[in-house]
Amino acid sequence: MGMSAGYELARRGLKTLLIDAFDPPHALGSHHGEPRLIRHAYHGGAAYVSMALRADERWLELEKLTGEKLLERSGVLNMSDPDVYSYDVRLDDAAALGVTIELLNAAQIRSRWPGVRLPDGFEGMYEPNAGYLYSERGVAAYKRAALEAGAGLLTNTFVTDIVPDAGGVTVRTKDNIFHAGKVLISAGAWFKRLEPFISLPIRSVRKVVGWFETEGNGFDSGVFPGFTLGTKDGGYYGFPSIDGKGLKIGRHDTGVEWKPGEELAPFGFYPEDEGDLRRALSAFMPGAAGRLLSGAVCKYEMTPDEDFIIDTHPEHRNVLLAGGFSGHGFKFASVVGEIAADLIEKGKSAQDIGLFSLSRFALR
Ligand SMILES: Cc1cc2nc3c(=O)[nH]c(=O)nc-3n(C[C@H](O)[C@H](O)[C@H](O)COP(=O)(O)OP(=O)(O)OC[C@H]3O[C@@H](n4cnc5c(N)ncnc54)[C@H](O)[C@@H]3O)c2cc1C
Repeated sequence: MGMSAGYELARRGLKTLLIDAFDPPHALGSHHGEPRLIRHAYHGGAAYVSMALRADERWLELEKLTGEKLLERSGVLNMSDPDVYSYDVRLDDAAALGVTIELLNAAQIRSRWPGVRLPDGFEGMYEPNAGYLYSERGVAAYKRAALEAGAGLLTNTFVTDIVPDAGGVTVRTKDNIFHAGKVLISAGAWFKRLEPFISLPIRSVRKVVGWFETEGNGFDSGVFPGFTLGTKDGGYYGFPSIDGKGLKIGRHDTGVEWKPGEELAPFGFYPEDEGDLRRALSAFMPGAAGRLLSGAVCKYEMTPDEDFIIDTHPEHRNVLLAGGFSGHGFKFASVVGEIAADLIEKGKSAQDIGLFSLSRFALR
């Protein structure tokens, strides 16, 4: 989010400094272990659908600017037990905004993607123009674009303090003090470290993903789509095997809370790290339940309603907050950069961001 906003601000000619505790892309935040799904027929209403479509346009613009391939239109197949999730809620908003979707029953899914063993009664929604983003490559591309547009960048520099005053905002790091007219904080899973200056209802959660060996080529990229899977036993998402790296799968629900500063247990520390993923694959895609090829640990930053926070600080209008992306934010990073730049430059955004307002929480 920060790199995207930094690019957009610098491109508009604003004097911009990016400060990061590490050197993005890195494996200590929420963006590593690519890829990430990009879907447009979004749950949560028209505001999300419109943002997803704008985000897609901006990823293509970034591809053009940097010459990097960032988005693969693999299609995304959403499958669910109807007792867990029904796709009807997504259809009206998506159709109204021109998103192509196909509703499929279990037999149609099994015949089109023979690797999927979906029980009768499950429902499906296929979005042919959806796909996945190479997230680390995307962060690196925005970083390069931001630097080329004139932004400054301080890496391995932890912001320790943020103090607004009448003239703007003072930002402290271990070795320096900076003064800015306005500040955007997009601290991912580390917002808690900025308390008591800002106390947001964000819970950071340890998440794992695994890459599994597949049989034949039916799960390969170019053949198999990205997917989501809603079962009574949990919600999963995944990606085809890219360059023989194995089918990637993760579980969206569950996960152990992580407090910034604590050590993060490596993949495999808990039996369910591999166990949950393997159980879902064995039941629904047995041909992809082969050897575990690799695993990664990442972080979600969850708000209570899983909607984002994009708003000004309740007491300091020169401080903008973008966080709580709740495990589904990456696809929006391109448009969040534009929204943040609009809020900083003009005080308003063309996107409907009412859903992301802090007023929905009772904040101290
Ligand atoms: C396993 C997994 C799967 C996911 N799958 C999807 C998906 O399929 N589709 C999707 O759209 N999204 C997905 N997401 C969510 C998405 O990746 C995140 O929402 C997104 O990366 C959040 O971006 P961010 O900029 O808020 O956080 P980050 O990318 O973590 O960036 C935050 C940055 O802030 C820096 N920072 C924090 N505190 C300080 C400080 N005090 N001083 C200086 N720097 C600081 C950190 O170093 C970090 O670089 C997934 C996430 C995970 C973990």
